[in-house]
Amino acid sequence: MIPPATTMKPTLVSDLTSPDEKRARSLPWSSPSRASAFDPVLARVAATWTWARFVPVAVALVTIVTLAIVHLATCLASRDAILDASVRLPSTVRNTVTEYPEPIYATLLRLRGVQPVPESASDGDRATAAKSTTVWTRMLPPLLVPRVPGTVTHAEARAHLAAHLERIGFHVELDHFNATTPMGVKPMANVIATWDRHAPKRLVLAAHYDSKYFSRWEFIGAIDAAASCAILLDVAETVAPALHATKTDTTLQLVFFDGEEAWGPISESNSIYGSRHLAATWAATSAPSGGTDTMLDTITTFVLLDLLGSRSAPIRNQHLETTAQFQSLIDVEADLRARRFLTAAANTSMTYFEETFERRHIQDDQIPFWQAGVPVVHAIPLPFPDVWHTVRDTVDALDPVIVVDLARVFAAFAVEELRLQAPAPVARDVTARMWREWSMLGRK
Ligand SMILES: [Zn+2]
Repeated sequence: MIPPATTMKPTLVSDLTSPDEKRARSLPWSSPSRASAFDPVLARVAATWTWARFVPVAVALVTIVTLAIVHLATCLASRDAILDASVRLPSTVRNTVTEYPEPIYATLLRLRGVQPVPESASDGDRATAAKSTTVWTRMLPPLLVPRVPGTVTHAEARAHLAAHLERIGFHVELDHFNATTPMGVKPMANVIATWDRHAPKRLVLAAHYDSKYFSRWEFIGAIDAAASCAILLDVAETVAPALHATKTDTTLQLVFFDGEEAWGPISESNSIYGSRHLAATWAATSAPSGGTDTMLDTITTFVLLDLLGSRSAPIRNQHLETTAQFQSLIDVEADLRARRFLTAAANTSMTYFEETFERRHIQDDQIPFWQAGVPVVHAIPLPFPDVWHTVRDTVDALDPVIVVDLARVFAAFAVEELRLQAPAPVARDVTARMWREWSMLGRK
């Protein structure tokens, strides 16, 4: 049976007689309209919640919230401490990615721990700094062995190249072939490392990893071309975070040619075995995008490094058709020098790349590609260093400052040519690493 409407009348504060009940009803949750809906249960509960009970509960809540805020602040502070201490990145890096206005290649170098060299640094300080870099301590040494095709040390050098590039994330392919030389058939293999095999175009940076065979003495070939190969390994390491961060039509490909050296007197048929083999292969291979293009057509620029790493003559432009690319090398060198990101003194009169043109078509690995119409930059000092093809071409012929600096210039060049983007994913990687290390610290 439905009760008469009058029995549903709300209880008003004014109706209550007890002063305690009146106080209770004036609390925020006990307005007459709310009370009406839950009477009589809420009325009884509200009556027991006096100010004397409410204040301690409120104090407890405020204390809990304050403690939580203090805890969060402590966590963030220790996160920063871990970032600084364990990851050992320069504190500027976190600003660089989003706030600090500098070229992306400078950001990438900072991520590898490169700091501006003080202007007051002595030549000795600069050499010491260069010798502590990984291009000098890790990437170069396994290449400073005789690398005559078919020998064990040659295979070991090739394995070092492939392992380093695979670790960074490149797809590595060995292009095996047999070369008929004046000293018989020799097994050879080019090393081809590609970042994105499905990209329609590629910027190729190349060097040869074999060394010349001399019957009467052991030839190392530090400038010819172990240093150039180490430079390319270092370029790969520097630009990989930006390659990760950028989806571009043009990818980076590093090629390490075998059989550049002649067996005995050099001739057109007795030299550059690897590049002739690969250029012919690519001329006969369709581009992944289909159509009539061959693999050679997908190369935007072919940059060949050779005889680099010693204090010798500058590198000059030999190809008018790639003047823009050569100018980019000059520009990034100047910018890195101005930022004191090169190990060499900023006030030196000699630059690595010189704004002069000298038409020369030296018999080197760029020739088969240039003859096929590929735009070529030949980065080789002119004239050749005087240790060229002598017993003195060992680690002693190399200047660590130049090896390190050229690795930075070519990395910056690749970043500019490929229009690579800010490595935001690196920041995420750093964050992931940071939290991982933090959680490990927590378990100790
Ligand atoms: Zn040579």
